[in-house]
Amino acid sequence: MKEKVENIKNELIKDLENANALLDVQNLKVKYLGKKGLVTELTSNMRDLSIDEKKEVGMLSNETKNFVTHELSKLEEKINNLELEKKLASEKIDISLPSTKVEVGVENILEKLIEEVESLALSMGYDVVEGPEVEKDLYNFELLNLPKGHPARDAQDTFYLDSDTTLLRSQTSPVQIRTMLENKEKTPIRIICPGKTYRRDDDDATHSHQFTQIEGLIVDKDISLANLKATFDIIAKKLFGEDRETRFRPSFYPFTEPSVELDISCFNCGGKGCNICKGTGWITVGGAGIVHHNVLDNCGYDSNKWTGFAFGFGAERLAMLKYGITDIRTFYTNDLRTKENFDRKDAE
Ligand SMILES: [Zn+2]
Repeated sequence: MKEKVENIKNELIKDLENANALLDVQNLKVKYLGKKGLVTELTSNMRDLSIDEKKEVGMLSNETKNFVTHELSKLEEKINNLELEKKLASEKIDISLPSTKVEVGVENILEKLIEEVESLALSMGYDVVEGPEVEKDLYNFELLNLPKGHPARDAQDTFYLDSDTTLLRSQTSPVQIRTMLENKEKTPIRIICPGKTYRRDDDDATHSHQFTQIEGLIVDKDISLANLKATFDIIAKKLFGEDRETRFRPSFYPFTEPSVELDISCFNCGGKGCNICKGTGWITVGGAGIVHHNVLDNCGYDSNKWTGFAFGFGAERLAMLKYGITDIRTFYTNDLRTKENFDRKDAE
């Protein structure tokens, strides 16, 4: 028995010298302490022994078991420490090395323009309101004074989704309708609604089947074109420079009466005439007007008591003018060179 124990200990010492990984420790545990392990086997024939012999074998095998367990846990700790040191050495960071350049994203130039208009509007007391892009014909046309069969509907070639009741909104004006309808107390309204709109269009440098509108609506008492002019003046100067002059030209929209085109004096030539303003000195940037009494009445605002104005800009058009972009598709193609160009423009 003592000889067996001695052999186990000697074998263990050899094994310990050869072990250098955690897996080795695992294997040694099985070899010595497992169900059929060398130490476990010491007590395999206990049944056939006398009481005295049992005592001796029991004592010796326990002692051996403790010895092996202790040695193996020492080994395990040693290997753990070694591996940690190795890891620390290999993951050491040399802070004197030059850093890798990390590309930083910038806002899409269109988003940037929209946010600029939004923050201006917020500073003027407007709320920013959004609405669904899949819209009812009722909100996109009918309540906006464009009943079925109205000829002005032809100007907005629309994507219908099912029969003739659901469509991809062709303008953000349905958000105005929704806001007026949802305001059950019929209190004054001052909102802008930026968002995507859709019209059937052949895509080219200045047309896209998807584009972005920014509309504004005020409903209150005693609102006139003078209020609209003052508001437009602030927006034009903020976006295109303090020297900008503004003017109205008569126009027609079914949802406003009277309706006007919104022009700014050319920021490129200052009004003398150039290719951007096509020689006129003026650039049209949007449309506007006094909210049609039918629209107010449709939405529960008694047009005998309430008035309002509405305006709308094409966000892409504003951004193209402001940043000198010649192709509307620049906004939608993920060409990183565009980003670099506008980074540079901002830095200058
Ligand atoms: Zn010009």
